[in-house]
Amino acid sequence: MKIEKKRIAILGSTGSIGLSTLSVLESLGPGYEIQALSGHENWQELARQGLKYHPRKIALTETDNLAEFKEALGTENNIEILTGPDSLKDLALDADCDVIIVAVVGVAALAAVLAGIEAGKTMALANKEALVCAGDLVMSLAREKGVQVLPIDSEHSAILQAMSCGDRKEVKKVILTASGGPFRKASSDEIDQVSLKDALNHPTWDMGPKITIDSATMMNKALEIVEARWLFELDPEQIEVLIHPESIIHSLVEFCDGSVIAQLSRPDMRLPIQYALTYPNRLPCPAAQLNLHELGQLNFEAPDTKRFPAVRLGFEVARKGGTSGAVLNAANEAAVEAFQAEKIGFTQIAELTESCLKNHEFVKNPDLQQLIQADQWARAEIDRLVNTPQHAST
Ligand code: MG
Repeated sequence: MKIEKKRIAILGSTGSIGLSTLSVLESLGPGYEIQALSGHENWQELARQGLKYHPRKIALTETDNLAEFKEALGTENNIEILTGPDSLKDLALDADCDVIIVAVVGVAALAAVLAGIEAGKTMALANKEALVCAGDLVMSLAREKGVQVLPIDSEHSAILQAMSCGDRKEVKKVILTASGGPFRKASSDEIDQVSLKDALNHPTWDMGPKITIDSATMMNKALEIVEARWLFELDPEQIEVLIHPESIIHSLVEFCDGSVIAQLSRPDMRLPIQYALTYPNRLPCPAAQLNLHELGQLNFEAPDTKRFPAVRLGFEVARKGGTSGAVLNAANEAAVEAFQAEKIGFTQIAELTESCLKNHEFVKNPDLQQLIQADQWARAEIDRLVNTPQHAST
């Protein structure tokens, strides 16, 4: 019997999720074929991947080192090279594949996500910004095209897994767990003093810098609230956040009969990545096994929105919809950049993001153009706030 291969494209194959995806694909073996890869700045790693995995297409979005990249890749492999900022979208439209893994960080992935859905590919999103910014648009298009949008975010993967225990109509609420980040026990004063180095040190997950800072401010949970709202078509009132410092329960779903179904595993992104690749089936995974008696206990706390106002912003945006998701996401991205450049303090990330949400001209049913405008406005507004200190604390 001929085995049908699943053909995979990975957008963002040189980042943390991209590398984990490649390691999962290696362990899954010959049922999966890598058709396309993309990278941004790390052309050396992208060239190495090209030589190792022989995809049919490679996109390099940052072209400063294009000549070196081409030389490293050589010509005998017959790999088609796409370049420039639009190449992600072109790859998503044209790649001869069944599943597109979107592991690119930031809103830059949105056009590629829409293109992939338009082309009828199954989308597996590690990127949360596309859904936060344009969840209504993305999911409406997916419904129209009959395309599956699968989460790679560990919490949303857990929700998807737990939801399979009942009918969607029987879901009462979802409980998103959060580690609480490295400052879970810190006082407001201590949080005020957090340095860039402190914020880059996450207790349970090893991730890229943007998402690590987002976890420290808990903006990551805010983005995940909005993400869940669109991905699972939930009423925002059906979403709860629960602090669970061990990151063993990745989220829970409560059904109408009061049953609560949780998904547990050691914190290892290879599991949600593999679940999206093998969905709706399961296969053995190289991720470490869970040993509950070794762990002994699991702990839970309510989130504190006074010390972590980002969580409150997440719920506000999930309720409001329209352009507010685009503003939340872009303002946060720009504020995190300003924090990384040490232009603003840690608590100002959420403060300035909230100012942006207050100041922006809200559009209820935006099209893609209006979402992009809201995104650009929010980035400019953060820039303005960062450079006018008297506005920074309002
Ligand atoms: Mg997550």
